[in-house]
Amino acid sequence: MNEGIYVAGRWRSSASTETVEVLNPATEELLRRLPAGAGADVERAVEAAAAAFPAWSATPVADRCAYIAAISTELERRADEFAELIAVDVGCPLKIARRVQVGMSLAVAEAFRSPEIVPETEELGNSVVVREPVGVVAAITAWNFPLFLAVAKVLPALAAGCTVVLKPGEVAPLTAYLFAEVVDAAGVPPGVFNMVSGTGAVAGEALVAHPGVDMISFTGSTRAGIRVGEVAARTVKRVTAELGGKSPSILLPGADLASAVRATVRNAYLNSGQTCGALTRMLVHHADRDEAVEVAVATARAHVVGDPFDPATRLGPLASGAQRDRVRRHIDQGVAEGATLVCGGSGVPAGRDVGYYVDATVFADVTPEMAIAGQEIFGPVLSVMTYTSEEEAVRIANGTPYGLVAAVWAGDTDRAMAVAGRIRAGQVDLNGARFNPAAPFGGYKASGNGRELGRHGVAEFLETKSIQR
Ligand code: NAD
Repeated sequence: MNEGIYVAGRWRSSASTETVEVLNPATEELLRRLPAGAGADVERAVEAAAAAFPAWSATPVADRCAYIAAISTELERRADEFAELIAVDVGCPLKIARRVQVGMSLAVAEAFRSPEIVPETEELGNSVVVREPVGVVAAITAWNFPLFLAVAKVLPALAAGCTVVLKPGEVAPLTAYLFAEVVDAAGVPPGVFNMVSGTGAVAGEALVAHPGVDMISFTGSTRAGIRVGEVAARTVKRVTAELGGKSPSILLPGADLASAVRATVRNAYLNSGQTCGALTRMLVHHADRDEAVEVAVATARAHVVGDPFDPATRLGPLASGAQRDRVRRHIDQGVAEGATLVCGGSGVPAGRDVGYYVDATVFADVTPEMAIAGQEIFGPVLSVMTYTSEEEAVRIANGTPYGLVAAVWAGDTDRAMAVAGRIRAGQVDLNGARFNPAAPFGGYKASGNGRELGRHGVAEFLETKSIQR
């Protein structure tokens, strides 16, 4: 695999003498030492993206989408390599990396092949409303779904006619290197796509502050998202922000309780709970509490903790030691607050002295005032909460600063739909509905601004110009 930075269609050495150590979360061994991109690297990348913008933005949409189709084909060809790399770097079990991390990314990439994905010029009275690319985009991503996040930002930006500098999350940056190889192999013109790795504080902030960058497409924590918004405001950049979540799964009386509990638990533990939309608050009617807890514990126990490459593993390590320690602290806090720990805990899982492992953990009797009910934990920790009326369920569901995803389970679809209408979140899934790669994704409240995926995702990368005649 290449090293350095990918700028103007070539791999180059970084100007930085600082490095980022990339560790294998299952073994704690050093995987790679990568350059911690410096301000000078960002400068070169932004310059290259700005130089490529006039020609790329003038390239017909159909031709831009033909390049995207070539990227999508190349991603499919190298799918197994991506899955293995994500298993090594993030610690996601290989089977899940293949099916979810890579599978979802391929589905999303596929959706951007068609030129119809780009909104067209509109006639409005005596006006022509033209959509034009925003310009140079800095795509700053989290480490938890490294391929998905790169695809969900870079491909719609390219379809819209923007040029891009990608900065991946420093905890698991290896996928971005492979992704840059894919874009290179697809023959995308030099400078249209660039990649600089490095830390948020240095490479990330240099991009956000750079006057040559027109837009920041950010995915990460709410804390970093706020900082990005503040710095970007100085140069009046557009910012879309996909941030954290504390998503509720509301199980209404009349739903198939056991299957709704099982699906919620599996969702909460996907990628060791390191998923922005993880359904980490399970809201059940108080009469269903005991049965729901019993099924949740049985499902949690079936989540075998282990090496990502072991086919029996359902729960790999967390991505870093810092992440593992943070999750343990949240669990200890839950116990201290008086929640009932019914499964798992903050101890070292049996036989897992090496690697950043945490057991599948379930808390029952969690109340809205507890910190574990309101804070994003980003680990395999599920909180079971009870309600007595639909009104109260909706109030609890909406009662955190976040609003990314929710799930509603009900025997009656009309009732589920009515509850969905009252949830302040950007995505609501009814009765375990499947993922739709064309539907917009994003948050209300502290979960962010803007939407990704499909036509709505492309629209974020477009300016709107009215021409009166
Ligand atoms: P993070 O906020 O620490 O980092 C995210 C990215 O921002 C990284 O590339 C980092 O280097 C960069 N960054 C950090 N500070 C920066 C700054 N001041 N200026 C510019 N860039 C900066 O988040 P993380 O630990 O990588 O990811 C976990 C978080 O991401 C969770 O909160 C999760 O919910 C969220 N997330 C959200 C979505 C979504 O679509 N809503 C998807 C995945 C992850």
